[in-house]
Amino acid sequence: MTPRVDEVCYRDAYARHGEARVLEVAVAEGPPLVVLDVTAFYPGGGGQPSDRGVILRTDDGRSWTVRAAKRVGGEIVHELETLADGELPRVGDRVVVDVEWARRYALMRTHTALHALCGVVWRDYGALVTGGNMEPGAGRMDFEFERMSGDLVGEIEAKVNTELRTGRDVRVNELPRDEAFAIPDLIRTKVNLLPEGIDRIRTVEIVGLDLQADGGTHVANTREVGGIRVTGYESKGRINKRIRLELVEPEG
Ligand SMILES: [Zn+2]
Repeated sequence: MTPRVDEVCYRDAYARHGEARVLEVAVAEGPPLVVLDVTAFYPGGGGQPSDRGVILRTDDGRSWTVRAAKRVGGEIVHELETLADGELPRVGDRVVVDVEWARRYALMRTHTALHALCGVVWRDYGALVTGGNMEPGAGRMDFEFERMSGDLVGEIEAKVNTELRTGRDVRVNELPRDEAFAIPDLIRTKVNLLPEGIDRIRTVEIVGLDLQADGGTHVANTREVGGIRVTGYESKGRINKRIRLELVEPEG
């Protein structure tokens, strides 16, 4: 069955606006929810928060703030802020979708930086990732990394910055599940935890550094990230360690 929503963010992370039609409007408890036939909004997941932005009705220019997007029943749904007069978009309305770009782009850079961190820590120290989270411009990753120390963290920061500056391309791919399972490096990112029903696996590769099963949005080249600064590291037990980082703007 062809899905009725075209989810643009997975094939074009740089799409920030576009035209769409309202498929469904739901008002129950909480904010009004709207389903569009095409959307550039990322619904959140994998540690990356959802986008925010605006939808604007073409007919009369009325606009609604989208305060979050999420996946409901398999579809991307937009949570609207209620207008003072309570008016909502109607099914069939033509709208222009506009993602809050500064925020999303910062998330793309942050997400890519975290992958570079994962890549370096796996390649040079053999440590597995157990979790992570981010906000625009800052994030954290947890590792099974018993011997992590302050010195090592400084070394990791320098190595990550070298990789970012190298200007590695970031590629998105989709593989049949069996093929994805055959890639040894993907297993460490717990691809086997994906539900049985998913028969295609989306992968994100920092060419020459990192390959992961991933649903998020990333920049196309590590040079766009700029650099990172490690802002802290913590012990979450004997083995589990956390590294926090923030972005450093690219030069020029
Ligand atoms: Zn990711």
